[in-house]
Amino acid sequence: MTTSDTYDLIVIGAGAMGLAAAYEAAKAGSTVALFEADNVPGGMAAHFDFDGLSLERYYHFICKTDYDSFELFKELDIFDKLKWRETKMGYYYQGALYEWGNPFALLGFPKLNLIEKIRYGLLAFWCTRRRSWDKVEPLTAPEWLKAWLGENGYNKLWNRLFYLKFYDYTDKISATWIGTRIRRIGLSRKSLLQEELGYLEGGTETLVSALVSKIKTLGGHVSLGAPATEIVTDGAYVSGVKIGSKFVKSKNVISTVPTPFISKLVPSLPTELKSNYDAIPNIGVACLIFKLKKSVTENFWLNTIDESLAVPGIIEFSRLRPLKDGHIVYVPYYMPTDNDRWTWTDDDLLDEAFGAITAANPSINKEDILATQVSRLKYAQPICYPNFLDMLPPIQTPFQGLQIADTCYYYPEDRGISESIGLGRRMAKNALLRND
Ligand SMILES: Cc1cc2nc3c(=O)[nH]c(=O)nc-3n(C[C@H](O)[C@H](O)[C@H](O)COP(=O)(O)OP(=O)(O)OC[C@H]3O[C@@H](n4cnc5c(N)ncnc54)[C@H](O)[C@@H]3O)c2cc1C
Repeated sequence: MTTSDTYDLIVIGAGAMGLAAAYEAAKAGSTVALFEADNVPGGMAAHFDFDGLSLERYYHFICKTDYDSFELFKELDIFDKLKWRETKMGYYYQGALYEWGNPFALLGFPKLNLIEKIRYGLLAFWCTRRRSWDKVEPLTAPEWLKAWLGENGYNKLWNRLFYLKFYDYTDKISATWIGTRIRRIGLSRKSLLQEELGYLEGGTETLVSALVSKIKTLGGHVSLGAPATEIVTDGAYVSGVKIGSKFVKSKNVISTVPTPFISKLVPSLPTELKSNYDAIPNIGVACLIFKLKKSVTENFWLNTIDESLAVPGIIEFSRLRPLKDGHIVYVPYYMPTDNDRWTWTDDDLLDEAFGAITAANPSINKEDILATQVSRLKYAQPICYPNFLDMLPPIQTPFQGLQIADTCYYYPEDRGISESIGLGRRMAKNALLRND
C-alpha cells in the first residue's frame, strides 16, 4: 500500500483471472491494488517446493486453442517458454493397459464392439467440428453420451470416470460442458494420429511470476496474505474493500474468488442474489503427488475405469513437462466434500492411490517413492448443469462498479488458465470503460 489507499480498481484473488485483470488495468495506466488471501500468488496455478523442485500444486496442460494464454505470453515476453510435446493417453481396464487417443487405438480397443467404435469416432469428430451447442444444451452428459454411444458404450467408457469425479452429480452434469472438453483435447493434435499438448518451461510459475512482476513494474500493488473480508457498497455503488480492519477505497472492484464465498463477502447483496450464488454447486479435490524412481506407464494421462480402483486417472506429469530427476505423478481425488473420503488422512489417500499406481505398473513398490504431497481445495470444480447460464447471476452486479466472476463464468468451457485470463482481461476492460 502506498501514500494513497484509493485506487482506480481493486482486484480480489491473485489466480490467473485476478492477475490478468490487474495487469490489464495497470497496462492501461490505472492505479490497481490486488489482494490475495494466500501467501503465494497463482491460486490453482500456484507452485510449491516439492523435494527441491518448483512444481504446480495442480497439474496443468496447455491446448492448441488456448488463444488468450498465447496472446498474454507474447505480451509478457514468455512465449518462447511455451513448449509442445507429443503425449499419449491410455485406459486401465480390468487389469490391462490400452492405448487411446487415435483412430488405430480406437479400432484396436477390445472392450467396444465395432458399432460402438464407429459411434465413438463420429462423436469425437462431431465435437471438434461443432459450432453451436444449442440443441445439446438441455441434455445431461449421460443422456447425450448414451444417445451417441449406446448404453453399453457409455457404461464401458464413461460411467466409472464420471462417478469417480462427480458421484451423486453424475446424472446432472451438462452435456455441452463435457462436449467442449472433448473438443478442446480433440483439437490439440499434431496430426490425426498424434495428440500434442503444451507446457511452460518452469511450469505455471513462469506465467504467475511474469504477471506479478509486470503488474508491479506498471505501478500496481500486489498484497499477499491479505484476504478481503468485505466488499463494501454505498447505495447503488461499490465503494471499496475491507482487508481486515483496513478499508481500501475504489469505485471499481473485481472479485475472482470462488462464488461460494460471495454471499458472505458482499453482505449488502439482495437475499435472492445471495441464494443464487449459494446454489452453484462445487466439488473439492485432494490432489496427490508422487515423485517416483520409475515411470508408471508411457502415458501422460491414464484413465482408470477398473471397478477395483477408486481413482479416475493417473497423470504422469513428467511425460509432459520433462523434469530433471524422478517421475512426477498426480492422482486427483475429486469429490463432493460430504464424501467420506474427504475426511480421510493424507496417508490413507496416498496408500489407496499408490495401489492404483502399482496396479498399472506392478514393478513399482514402496521403495520407489521419493516424495509425496497432498494439496486440497474445497471449491475446485463448479458443477455445471444443463442450461447452466440461466442459474448464474450476471457478472455486473446490481452495484455499479462491482463485477463478480469465477471459473464457472466461462461456461460451457471447463476451468482453464486461458479462459480465466480472457475473462479477467475483459472484466478489467469493462471497469476501465466506466472510468473514461
Ligand atoms: C486439479 C486441477 C487441474 C487443472 N488442470 C488444468 C489444466 O490442465 N489446464 C488448464 O488450463 N487449467 C487447469 N485447471 C484449472 C485452472 O487451474 C484454473 O482454471 C485457473 O487457475 C483458475 O484461475 P482463477 O484465477 O479463475 O481462480 P483461482 O485460481 O481459484 O483464484 C482465486 C484466488 O482467490 C483467492 N481468494 C479466495 N478468497 C479470497 C479472499 N477473501 N480474499 C482474497 N483472495 C481470495 C484464492 O486464494 C485464489 O488465489 C486445473 C485445476 C485443478 C484444480
